[in-house]
Amino acid sequence: MVKVLVAAPIHEKALEKLKEAGFEVVYEEYPDENRLIELIKDVDAIIVRSKPKVTRKVIEAAEKLKVIARAGVGLDNIDLEAAEERGIKVFNAPAAPTQSVAELAVGLMLAVLRKIAYADRKMREGEWSKKQCLGNELYGKVLGVLGMGRIGTAVARIAHHGFGMKIIYYDKRRCPHEIEKELDAKCVDLDTLFREADVITIHVPLLPSTKHLVNEEKLRLMKKTAILINTARGGVVDTEALVKALKEGWIAGAGLDVFEEEPSPPDHPLTKLENVVLTPHIGANTVEAQERAGMEVVEKIIEFFKSS
Ligand code: NAD
Repeated sequence: MVKVLVAAPIHEKALEKLKEAGFEVVYEEYPDENRLIELIKDVDAIIVRSKPKVTRKVIEAAEKLKVIARAGVGLDNIDLEAAEERGIKVFNAPAAPTQSVAELAVGLMLAVLRKIAYADRKMREGEWSKKQCLGNELYGKVLGVLGMGRIGTAVARIAHHGFGMKIIYYDKRRCPHEIEKELDAKCVDLDTLFREADVITIHVPLLPSTKHLVNEEKLRLMKKTAILINTARGGVVDTEALVKALKEGWIAGAGLDVFEEEPSPPDHPLTKLENVVLTPHIGANTVEAQERAGMEVVEKIIEFFKSS
């Protein structure tokens, strides 16, 4: 019987599916390294989320392990080199959070442009701040998508079909013709994206080539009325330059779910600015995304053991 160690909470439906497929399931939430070394000895597969860490020591203690599955996207907690050396497959669920992150990006656009978080703060302070809360619509504005992959495309769909936004994008690869046609999307160079967009939304991964891609030079190209949304990775934006841009009015506002340092320190300069909406990396944090992630990796595990 195939034995699966579920070492992090995954959606109930995903657990059921594993059991229905006839797998033996051992559940222990977030064991520490020593406990994991004990638990992993005789299992065929392990499922984790962003925790626990599957280190080289853990992998070397596994005698039968064939699969490490991450119910989510990032693989930072798994020693991929050690897994590869042992011929262990690593599965994840890269598409699971797409819709959730896209919806949060659009939510941040609305929160910044309509000053929703600011208005809420003022009301709680007893202030009726109607005059200060003059906002802008998304309708008819230019959305600049930086990284037109899964999430970038999902944001462009909501923005175009739902809010009548015009789509321009920058990506190292041109996106498929049908998508460009569906969204009437124009592929532009990076400087044009920053110059022409009313809203810039970031969806490139953090790589050496994208680190601080959004820097002082790019922020200075933006319209004074434009806003920046980042739900990708904090390191894509030079935070110091962004704080300057927001303080000195080179841009009108920002909505940020990700930060160069996470958790970001409570006295971070961004928390002192009224034209910023901040969320603590909650892009994928929905019931639906978690269910999709759990189901996707469980299906991959079942398929793997059935066909091997
Ligand atoms: P994806 O791989 O589908 O899309 C990324 C796009 O970026 C691709 O089209 C790729 O060609 C492009 N790209 C890569 N390097 C580039 C470069 N140097 N210049 C221009 N374009 C470049 O990924 P996705 O599923 O859309 O996810 C995007 C990012 O969102 C992830 O890498 C992750 O960092 C982030 N994310 C955040 C959350 C959250 O909780 N906020 C959740 C999931 C993903």
